[in-house]
Amino acid sequence: MQFHLDGFCPGDPRIADPEAAVSKPGPPTPLPEEVDVLVVGSGPTGLTVAAQLVAFPDLTVCVAEAKPGPLQLGQADGIACRTMEMFQAFGFAAAVMEEAYWVNETVFWGPDPDDPSGIRRNDRIPDVEDGLSEMPHVILNQARVHDHYLQVMANAEHPLTPVYRRRFVDLDLPANDDDPVVARFERLDEGREGTIEAVRARYVIGCDGARSRVRTAIGRELVGDAANQAWGVMDVLAVTDFPDVRYKAVVHSADEGSLLIIPREGGYLARLYIELDKLAEGERVANRDLTVDHLIDAAGRILAPYRLDVREVAWWSVYEIGQRLCDRFDDVPASAVGTRHPRVFIAGDACHTHSPKAGQGMNVSMQDGFNLAWKLAAVLRGRSAPLLLDTYSAERHAVAEELIEFDREFAAMFSAASKTAEHELGRGSDEDAPAVDPAVFQRHFQQQGRYTAGVATRYGPSLLTAEAPAQHRATGFVVGTRFHSGPVIRLADAKPMQLGHTVEADGRWRLFVFGDRADPTASDSALNRLCHRLLTNDDSPLRRYTPASADIDAVLDVRAVLQQSHHDVNIGDLPPLLRPTKGRYGLIDYQKVFCPDLVKGPDVFDLRSVDREAGAVVIVRPDQHVATVTDLGDLEAIADFFNPFMLDVR
Ligand code: FAD
Repeated sequence: MQFHLDGFCPGDPRIADPEAAVSKPGPPTPLPEEVDVLVVGSGPTGLTVAAQLVAFPDLTVCVAEAKPGPLQLGQADGIACRTMEMFQAFGFAAAVMEEAYWVNETVFWGPDPDDPSGIRRNDRIPDVEDGLSEMPHVILNQARVHDHYLQVMANAEHPLTPVYRRRFVDLDLPANDDDPVVARFERLDEGREGTIEAVRARYVIGCDGARSRVRTAIGRELVGDAANQAWGVMDVLAVTDFPDVRYKAVVHSADEGSLLIIPREGGYLARLYIELDKLAEGERVANRDLTVDHLIDAAGRILAPYRLDVREVAWWSVYEIGQRLCDRFDDVPASAVGTRHPRVFIAGDACHTHSPKAGQGMNVSMQDGFNLAWKLAAVLRGRSAPLLLDTYSAERHAVAEELIEFDREFAAMFSAASKTAEHELGRGSDEDAPAVDPAVFQRHFQQQGRYTAGVATRYGPSLLTAEAPAQHRATGFVVGTRFHSGPVIRLADAKPMQLGHTVEADGRWRLFVFGDRADPTASDSALNRLCHRLLTNDDSPLRRYTPASADIDAVLDVRAVLQQSHHDVNIGDLPPLLRPTKGRYGLIDYQKVFCPDLVKGPDVFDLRSVDREAGAVVIVRPDQHVATVTDLGDLEAIADFFNPFMLDVR
């Protein structure tokens, strides 16, 4: 898709009318007086939470936002492979892939040794290691990501739109857990400015960005290096003879600083990140009176001798970034953990901030939201005990800590690499500056590829990521990491597809039963016996946790992966659990069983190192992370995993 040729246009490029293309705030609505979940802020974090919660029409949700309407421009734009996997679960990955720029290769430029006033390309590398994910790394305006979430919310059984022009002021935490949290908002809409409204909520989530007032209201603060690094960023339509303007390009000049080029969706637009000076203690970048012309001039100097003729600046910003983190992401004091469950949470930039160099901010923030929202839904809907909510802060704080550590190192290397370039050419003015060879920076960039793709996250042992009794049966599905998809063929209709795409953002758990070598239709095969026990055994988690009126897969969704070819198994001979009857007409669900692609390959059993003799059961959380791995014959281990936090609904 090509667009923005005659100037940047916000909104959906598939819609010609610029007015109709952009998301609108909708008619003004009052804040509800009472809800199950109140989300403060409609950035990517708040919208991820909301898009997940609208999957449950029995929950009431409100999103309150200070801005007058949906975001149209700017801010983050990098979408990691892992985030695309999540978008797949929300149903809009295909639309994003069609519209976005795909980062397939990254190029590295440094000073030209023959002419140090110029630059030359040192290397090019694949941006994402082969096999890391079935999804690409893409670039798309944050506003368009918001649009997709807003559409998911609008399409829900109970459509949800953020209530704009409401600024969160403060909240009261009740002493009694059964009483609601009371949050107060100031109206910002014309004619009502200053009016205070109150919302009573069972849970409040502060997704209100780096200057979060929800964070302040629960007495938490961001701790770390204050905003010490100034950055300039601009989205431009430009004419240049720099040959790699459509590649993600890291450019270290000899003595004019560094630049990151991120080509953007539509084929013409590009984002340039320009590292500006380090700020002095307490200094704000706003006080430096930087203009867009400063940024354009700086970019031109770094790219010299190539020409950069900027024809339009769609968006620009200078901002300061520090690496800062909250000690906990909820309202429970460390001394009360385990005795009290959280009522107020903070997520995204509200609890961690860092540099944009590795494009992690929006991605990690959205994963915070994904981690939290299904847990809230499970507790509110009486499926799980509230202790589930304690895991949010524990899991996501560890991820944020790692991110800050990573970012500190990455950012320091980025700056040091250009300083080294100066030193090597005998031009460095700062003799004490740390020296890092740009080639070392490049190696570091490559080694960290898994991390920046978002697939390195591994939740530590907990209630939800148990010590796996049979991890050795499926070593490619590591407990705590996200379920790494693989190609399969659906048995009933020979559709080639990704196994991971069966995990939708619907709050359900998945039990992937990888069959043993025996004939799966034989009643004594391990797969057949497990399915029978899951369906009929009184202690089966399926029997205990599925409401009598619901479909058998409403809470725990069992899917089988066979070793045999899809031509060799008759679906009608498989256990009833793998062809369940559902819905008001009792129709058969034919989408529960998959086979390897034995002709084109790769075979998912080999790809993910699943034991062919014994098979394995891989239990996957609603947010796509592997919870545990058990043997097919070990129904007790499956029950033991769920029992501590699921509620018996029989
Ligand atoms: P945000 O996106 O900040 O969303 C918070 C939302 O809460 C906002 O809509 C805000 O209006 C609302 N809000 C705040 N206070 C209140 C209140 N009291 N009451 C009600 N609503 C409130 N990242 C990059 O990777 N690259 C970039 O170039 C980049 N540029 C950025 C430029 C700017 C100006 C900003 C603010 C951020 C930028 N970021 C960038 C960071 C990136 O956008 C964030 O990491 C990401 O958006 C985090 O999402 P979030 O939802 O947690 O917070």
